[in-house]
Amino acid sequence: MTEKRELLYEGKAKKLYVTDEKELLWVEYLNQATALNGLKKNEIAGKGELNNQITSFIFEYLSKKGIRHHFVKKLSKTEQLIQKVKIIPLEVVLRNVAAGSFSKRLGVKEGTPFSLPIVEFYFKEDALDDPFINDEHVLALKIAKQAEIDLLKVKVRKINKVLIEMFQKAKIRLIDFKLEFGRLPDGAIILADEVSPDTCRLWDAKTNEHLDKDIYRRDLGDLVLVYQKVLERLLTI
Ligand code: UDP
Repeated sequence: MTEKRELLYEGKAKKLYVTDEKELLWVEYLNQATALNGLKKNEIAGKGELNNQITSFIFEYLSKKGIRHHFVKKLSKTEQLIQKVKIIPLEVVLRNVAAGSFSKRLGVKEGTPFSLPIVEFYFKEDALDDPFINDEHVLALKIAKQAEIDLLKVKVRKINKVLIEMFQKAKIRLIDFKLEFGRLPDGAIILADEVSPDTCRLWDAKTNEHLDKDIYRRDLGDLVLVYQKVLERLLTI
């Protein structure tokens, strides 16, 4: 049985602890919700539990589809065991449909679908507000090599296909999402972090109602009720 040891890192939505096994970390999902790069912040009882359950479900689904990731197992309602990776400081965003910052920045109406999904990179650096960057910036900043950039794009598009199909079964449209990847000691790049309504835009397939963190960002209602709905629907597929 793996043992939890000291706190390694506290993020906005998760705490990471080292364990007695050097290749494994212990994650605790918190109830904190943040938006606008931390300017908006609230404690929402039940949120950590829901994100842990949804992320665990999705990682297990991805395993069945042959996608490698850092998730090892769910330990409790709010905790997971994960493989230790060195996180690549990129937010890899994939967009199937225009929304959020894309719509705002480029004046494209929310809900406009793209025939080819768009992959974007953001430099994960809170002090700079996670700026949008392109492939050449990634190379110049020595964040990843060209072959790794290409690999990230292939991986995110493949994960998109699997997630679209998974959410379709739950009568949910996958609008866009953000992924993070990490390097294992042998250099292999695997999916890390979380996949949840905090990191994906999910719209009801029939009504297009928001089933994600936009509920909190835009003050549209009760986030916990909505995340519960997502979990319940996923558990039926
Ligand atoms: N996203 C995220 N973390 C971030 C920024 C974005 O998980 O720090 C997700 C967000 O939930 C959405 C997608 O990435 O599913 C695209 O977000 P966008 O660039 O539209 O930014 P936003 O409108 O959230 O500011």
